[in-house]
Amino acid sequence: MSGYLCIHWAITPEIAPRPLINCNRCGTVKAYRCSEKFRVNANGKRIDVWLIYRCIDCDNSWNFGILERCNRRDIEPVLLQALESNDPALARRHAFDVIALRSRVGRVEEFPDVAVHKQRLGDTDTRESATVLELKLGLEMPTSLRLDRLLANELAISRSRLQALEDRRLLVIDPDGAKALRKPARDGATIRIDLVAEPDRQAIISAAGG
Ligand SMILES: [Zn+2]
Repeated sequence: MSGYLCIHWAITPEIAPRPLINCNRCGTVKAYRCSEKFRVNANGKRIDVWLIYRCIDCDNSWNFGILERCNRRDIEPVLLQALESNDPALARRHAFDVIALRSRVGRVEEFPDVAVHKQRLGDTDTRESATVLELKLGLEMPTSLRLDRLLANELAISRSRLQALEDRRLLVIDPDGAKALRKPARDGATIRIDLVAEPDRQAIISAAGG
């Protein structure tokens, strides 16, 4: 009989993407890191807001436009307050918006580092009796980290072994796109791994957060 153990993985990226900018002070292309500070400029009724980035070598600044020539009336007071007080959650949301960033800069350095918070779900089987591991992924925001790298890092097993498990349909990904293991981990994905024949089943389940 197979026992299920369901675990939720809450995944948060750790390092915000860094635009690569021709730094006029360094005289070459450099990565700029997010300062997590906004600059709000009010000119009459018009408001501009930027997120400030700084060159990692010389501290030169670059402004990432968040709101441009906006009418004050169109901005929620709560939002304006958050921008003016450098609300960390708001700064983080913009700093990780790699699509908006790339539309301004073209080249952006991305980091696959993530933190994974693991929590057992509901009334599932114990670690000792479970033979099937079910992982549910929750992503705070999109990541460039490949699913097989995430699983290999967190379960401490090799990517080739993951691939072998998938080839034998002992590892199933839902939704099951082509080569899902080699694509970035997706929010809402479920990974089911049948470990009944794996001698180190306990260690894998333990690493998974079971
Ligand atoms: Zn510089």
